[in-house]
Amino acid sequence: MNFNKEKSKKLFEEAKKFLPGGVTYALRYFEPYPFYVVKAKGSKIWDVDGNEYIDFWMGHGAIITGHMHEPIINALKEQLNYGFHFGWCNEWEVKWAKAVCEWFSADMVRPTNSGTEANMYAIRLARAYTGKSKIGKFEGGWHGGYDALHKSVNYPYDKPASLGLTEECTKNTIILPYNDLEGVYRKVKGEELACIIVEPVMGAAGIIPAEKEFLKGLRELCDEKNALLIFDEVITGFRFFRGAQHFYDVKPDLTTLGKAVGGQYFPGAGAFCGKAEIMEKIDQIKNPNFWDRVFHGGTYTGNALTMRMGYELITYLENKGINFYNQIDKFGEEIISELKNIFEEKRVKAYVTGLNSLFAIHFTNEKPTNGLTAETTRNKDLQRKLFEFMINNGVVYLTPSTPHFFLSSAHTNKDEEKFLSLIKEFINKKT
Ligand code: PMP
Repeated sequence: MNFNKEKSKKLFEEAKKFLPGGVTYALRYFEPYPFYVVKAKGSKIWDVDGNEYIDFWMGHGAIITGHMHEPIINALKEQLNYGFHFGWCNEWEVKWAKAVCEWFSADMVRPTNSGTEANMYAIRLARAYTGKSKIGKFEGGWHGGYDALHKSVNYPYDKPASLGLTEECTKNTIILPYNDLEGVYRKVKGEELACIIVEPVMGAAGIIPAEKEFLKGLRELCDEKNALLIFDEVITGFRFFRGAQHFYDVKPDLTTLGKAVGGQYFPGAGAFCGKAEIMEKIDQIKNPNFWDRVFHGGTYTGNALTMRMGYELITYLENKGINFYNQIDKFGEEIISELKNIFEEKRVKAYVTGLNSLFAIHFTNEKPTNGLTAETTRNKDLQRKLFEFMINNGVVYLTPSTPHFFLSSAHTNKDEEKFLSLIKEFINKKT
């Protein structure tokens, strides 16, 4: 890649000595070296070399109201007077819990330190509640690094998703085809299932929305099999008004959350919520013996920083209501439809997938309806060139592989114009 950012280059040289691969998360790496961010505000970020970028990555999709949104930052400043980590109960965990339950019409919730952890506990809870071991997850679905769910994440799906996973950990995980209800029925026939976990919009696989009938079918299937339906709404929970479950009108038994549930900028962000009769399996008052209940907890669970910031964000979104979402979703729909027009006009083999404020560009021959169609015919060279062109012109997104984009309410018409005109320029050059 033609890339010239001297300070970032130097930092990466140093980083390689102490961090494996020079990074804290492999997906942030690209050739020849990543850029290092020093500042973020609204829809923009700046790197150590002084370059400005329109940011469409938005902190892994966690950020919905833009970087350094004033109401959240003001609350943070106020909380500085009191402290963040008490290791005791605090009022913010109560306010946060009520706000999360109201947002998702759930009875009860518990906070976790990440989306990974939320999914780990939700699976444990589903197994405890149903007394069954097997779990269904989808090909291409990403739920974080928890062993039992770290299977068939990346194409080719038959390869181990990571070294170090024992067969024991993943043998009860049944891999299911996304957006293919008949295929799912075939795979689970005769199986004693504790749960099926699904992303209503597959994120890492390339922002692929579920078909409504598919999710409704999964609901019926889980009811037939006395299995729990878990929606992983780590990405979608606050990108849709009251979550994707409200948008699709399908109610899961448990919902797992991450990212924005902790106020969008703060670590230790995660949660799982759902019906009281399931969540009460954790209740230490109702189940005094530890062997009669499900363990959940941790040093930082319910810390005042994440709880308050999560509460402040949910309250902000609640007060703005559906209008907030109508505006940002309209923006997304406009960009998606413009992109489709550009690719059609220039006869570029590309599909744009997505919904509302999240979308992806697939340089493929087939319309991606699951991880598999999205992967097999991908033009990786074109993806890489687009990334290079965009980053050199002040636009960033994840990643050099499938281009993923997340919008926020801080993105402006000017950002949209710049992005679309760069796409046109790139396509004109390449075709
Ligand atoms: N589920 C989904 C759908 C995700 O997108 C992610 C992270 N991108 C996770 C779970 C894991 O969350 P975390 O990175 O906070 O562990």
